[in-house]
Amino acid sequence: MRKQVIIVENHHEVLDAWSKENKQNVITLDYHTDSHPAFLNFSYHRAIAQVKDTDPQFLSLKKQIIAGAFSTYMTTRDISQVITQLKHDEHIDFATTTGIINKSFCLAKCDGNNAAINNNIFNIDTNSSAYDDQKIIEYTPTCTPTCTRAPHNDYCIIDIARDSVSNAVLTDAIDKFNKIEPNLLSQYILDIDCDYFTSAASLWDIKSPELKVLKEIIEGATIITIAKESRCVEACRIENDNITSKEICSWLNDLINSI
Ligand SMILES: [Zn+2]
Repeated sequence: MRKQVIIVENHHEVLDAWSKENKQNVITLDYHTDSHPAFLNFSYHRAIAQVKDTDPQFLSLKKQIIAGAFSTYMTTRDISQVITQLKHDEHIDFATTTGIINKSFCLAKCDGNNAAINNNIFNIDTNSSAYDDQKIIEYTPTCTPTCTRAPHNDYCIIDIARDSVSNAVLTDAIDKFNKIEPNLLSQYILDIDCDYFTSAASLWDIKSPELKVLKEIIEGATIITIAKESRCVEACRIENDNITSKEICSWLNDLINSI
């Protein structure tokens, strides 16, 4: 299948490709939710160079630096400069705030609990109130939808890793996302952080019928962005597993080309 696939090392570098599209929704598969506030790291280092972090002016200075960075982008539209100022987990907040993308729908394995501190994030599992048009939608299920263990235990960790892109897991996530955005699958960017794959056992034979839903999501995407995040793959993979970012990229490439 001929499909534009953009591969970057650090996840926030996908912003360059996203900014060339027409404000689409993004479906992301990721270990982390990557929804830290934009310029969090940049503003800290800029501010600490001027005053101590115990100084009463520190927080307001940080806010000024963040507002200035957003304002500069809205004037210059220089995405390459922004990429130098963001960390690998701050791009979703930046992209939704500036309108580069419409909404972010992220299936993640680890909940950073960012919804508790950011009103623009709606976590399908943890938000107690109804959806209120937040731009960042996160789904961080505790286990696979087919698991019947109570309570979930260490065997679940192995199953979650193995079933990363199984039909059941992806169908469950898309069903949840569709309740928020019924037309989600009509036009979207597919975005994959390689650290979502936490075990070599998740890289199933590309002919497996269990990859039907993933293939459909690949086929329907306008473009596909992939973040290698080589060090994160090593940090997030389950115990005694040696999966690498290189293997995941190669598998994804074979899968996309097989469609
Ligand atoms: Zn379980």
